[in-house]
Amino acid sequence: MPIHTVTDHAHSDIEDIYSTRSSERSLPKYRMPDGLTEPHAAYALVRDELLLDGNARQNLATFCTTWVEDEVKQLMTDAVDKNMIDKDEYPQTAEIESRCVHILADLWHAEKSWDTIGCSTTGSSEAAMLGGLALKWKWRARREAEGEDTSKPNIVTGPVQICWKKFARYFDVEIREVPLKGDALGLQPDDLRDYCDENTIGVVATLGVTFTGIYEPVEALARELDAMQRDLGLDIPIHVDAASGGFIAPFIQRDLVWDFQIERVRSINASGHKYGLAPLGVGWVVWASKDDLPDDLVFYVDYLGGNMPTFALNFSRPGGEIIAQYYNFLRLGREGYTAIQQSCSDTAQWLGAELAKLGPFDMVYDGHGGLPAVAYKLTDGDHGFTLYDLSERVRMRGWQIASYPLPADREKTVVQRILIRHGVSRDLAALLLEDIKRALEHLSQNPVPNSTAGPGFHHG
Ligand SMILES: *Cc1c(COP(=O)(O)O)cnc(C)c1O
Repeated sequence: MPIHTVTDHAHSDIEDIYSTRSSERSLPKYRMPDGLTEPHAAYALVRDELLLDGNARQNLATFCTTWVEDEVKQLMTDAVDKNMIDKDEYPQTAEIESRCVHILADLWHAEKSWDTIGCSTTGSSEAAMLGGLALKWKWRARREAEGEDTSKPNIVTGPVQICWKKFARYFDVEIREVPLKGDALGLQPDDLRDYCDENTIGVVATLGVTFTGIYEPVEALARELDAMQRDLGLDIPIHVDAASGGFIAPFIQRDLVWDFQIERVRSINASGHKYGLAPLGVGWVVWASKDDLPDDLVFYVDYLGGNMPTFALNFSRPGGEIIAQYYNFLRLGREGYTAIQQSCSDTAQWLGAELAKLGPFDMVYDGHGGLPAVAYKLTDGDHGFTLYDLSERVRMRGWQIASYPLPADREKTVVQRILIRHGVSRDLAALLLEDIKRALEHLSQNPVPNSTAGPGFHHG
């Protein structure tokens, strides 16, 4: 064996990447290598490993952005060195974040959008933590002022995304997740009296339930809480988890009343990196007024003679996603967002109608009235395969489609969900449909003896 010498480095810029020393062995897994690797080779080797990842564009299990314009990539590169927390070094990034907050407050019908308070986060999960903390602080202050016990806070929800369970556990709040009864897919107004009490810090209503894509009836929930205030004296605020719906409803369901038009809705979160169309890593939380965010949760940072409130779990965080969010607001405007969300929604409804024609599926959500998505289950009876088998079969063509049970008490119902996002064209959806048809044909001719049963996907 010839011994490689340092001349390897000297020749590295003319060498073929796949004949460099580092390409002769597998990449380090447990220990940092002793020496250096030429950047082109290191890049190629790491990039090649990523070939094993699924193709994000065909991942129809995710709500998150998988297609961006070149200008977004350029802005992300331009901002790669900007830490959004350094508000005095990058005051314009801070200004852009603040503009996004007020634009969202306005989109969500805050009475005085210029006077609202809110912030960017890493996503809706962090936004939910902040929204939940504000509810908890407000509730505790109210109870203390009344001289009442503050040891048993609870939060009432329908079938929520995992972030609310995290919030509850991390911040010591009991979560009362109302089980689904009958055909219900979300929280119902009649549930509230049984689950709320004087220790309820708030009700979370979801606009775009993770499991199906439907919207919970925020206005009806608020009316029931109004009635409960009259009858029982409980004044319980609503936080709307509009992770996805916050960027859909304002554009294509403009008549739906779900946001700050409802007095009881005191805070809203949304994921910029879902239907907000920003690249991964940004969420938003906005409070109806400054009074809704208790001051002792806020830290003040002085910059440029101003006073910048910050409320966040993270400290350092990239600024690029926030800048890209603002780019999208400017680039697309209401007209652009409306066109994109409408075409996604039309495609979802088209796909829902086509899937319903195939026979073996009962539509659980057909794409009308909620997110651009469809959810369906197998019709009753033995098909010789499960939806998990179907997920696996279409995976052979690169499609990633989630199958999972509905939450309690409907966990016996397994559903499959397809999300239609920016970049999922009608043509791609038609190709998917053909692949589903072929997979169904194959599975009906080749029943699966030990059908796959088990969660293969996360609900993201
Ligand atoms: C995706 C989602 C979340 C979590 O949001 P991230 O941005 O992924 O942190 C919370 N709630 C709902 C309803 C969601 O769809």
